[in-house]
Amino acid sequence: MPSLIRSFPSHSHGGMPGTIVDIDTSRLKFSRPSSNRNSADYSIRSFRSHKSSNRSSQDSLGPPLPGSLNIQIESPPIVCYGRPDDSTGALLSGMLWLSVDAWGCEFDSLKLTFQSIVSTKKPVVVGCPDCTSKTTDLQTWDFISATHPLSHGLYNYPFAYVVPGNLPASTNSQLATIKYQLLARGTTLTGETVTFSQEIQVSRALLERTDRNSLRVFPPTNLAATLTLPPVIHRGGSFPVEMRLEGVVTRANMTRWKLRKATWRIEERSRMISLACERHSHKIGGENKGVQYEDVKILAIEEFKNGWKTDYNTADGKIEFEFSAGIPVGMTATDDVDNGSGLSVSHSMVLELIVAEEYCPRNTKMVTPTGSARVLRMQFNMNTTARSGMGISWDDECPPRYDDVPVSPPTYQALVGDDVQSISSI
Ligand SMILES: [Zn+2]
Repeated sequence: MPSLIRSFPSHSHGGMPGTIVDIDTSRLKFSRPSSNRNSADYSIRSFRSHKSSNRSSQDSLGPPLPGSLNIQIESPPIVCYGRPDDSTGALLSGMLWLSVDAWGCEFDSLKLTFQSIVSTKKPVVVGCPDCTSKTTDLQTWDFISATHPLSHGLYNYPFAYVVPGNLPASTNSQLATIKYQLLARGTTLTGETVTFSQEIQVSRALLERTDRNSLRVFPPTNLAATLTLPPVIHRGGSFPVEMRLEGVVTRANMTRWKLRKATWRIEERSRMISLACERHSHKIGGENKGVQYEDVKILAIEEFKNGWKTDYNTADGKIEFEFSAGIPVGMTATDDVDNGSGLSVSHSMVLELIVAEEYCPRNTKMVTPTGSARVLRMQFNMNTTARSGMGISWDDECPPRYDDVPVSPPTYQALVGDDVQSISSI
């Protein structure tokens, strides 16, 4: 195999040692003004034509591009506040920059697209890009749609878009990913394309603040557990849980329940329906069929053998337990999401209490285990979203009113004390 880098004949450019790379001149559709061509360019071509005229295309260097694109986002991070049904979305705005190189260029089109890319990690046919990803254009801006000459310089194209409030948040779960990107693409008259893409993170935050109380009963016993839980939890933080277990004492039987062990864990449940592309739909029995996958991952777990308060002296006795739970910072997890077409991620906290029954006759301190024990298992859905931060949606932000503008320009603030002296002494 010929080396791509060869020593350059020293006599052809002034005695300086150098290296050359093969350039496939057939792909150089874009011609520079002849004044830009220096002696080295000329020497490389003449050397190539002499040494290897039949060389097929080599991609070590592509054709020079007529320019470059860049995207500057001006809006704050995209956070949709509230549930998908009633969120007003978030504002995405920015500037597309096109830098045209020194020799100018005629552009045929310049387009910017905001797209969502949903990819499954369990495609019907591994390696098939159409089975793996689905790209949807959510918004397109046609900045140049007819042939348009552009001279050397920097051009800017502003864009703004209200990201719909029902869009699922950016997700990277065990089974699938949801990504958003801005893709800019410019095509020249001669067929070159310049592209630039930038990923946009879309998050959701729920603004509910009131704790919720949940009651669980465990028939045939009289046990009843009341839990106070936060309405929303966030990855990488802890939250307090208050639990009260009532109906602990059964006076008639002279028995009572003793809490032996308490365990909580937070589970992430992912679901994905992988669809086949048109070519491969026969593998799963035709169109309108998919393969569903489900995965449960334990994000955190903790076990307690003490730490609660037991009070057998109330009417039916109670056990109170406060602990903090949370999803560790380093844990790979994702927020709740449901894209309505098979991909969903939800979280739940499972609390398990192991209680053992004791026989304790009145007026005696002798306590005997009856040998009866129970596992009280409770499961609570936990809304897991991004933190709400300032929690102000774009449509709630108040622009300054004319009343707020003072009648005269603000005066300079007077400097006092040492500051004045130190400035005057300079
Ligand atoms: Zn396929």
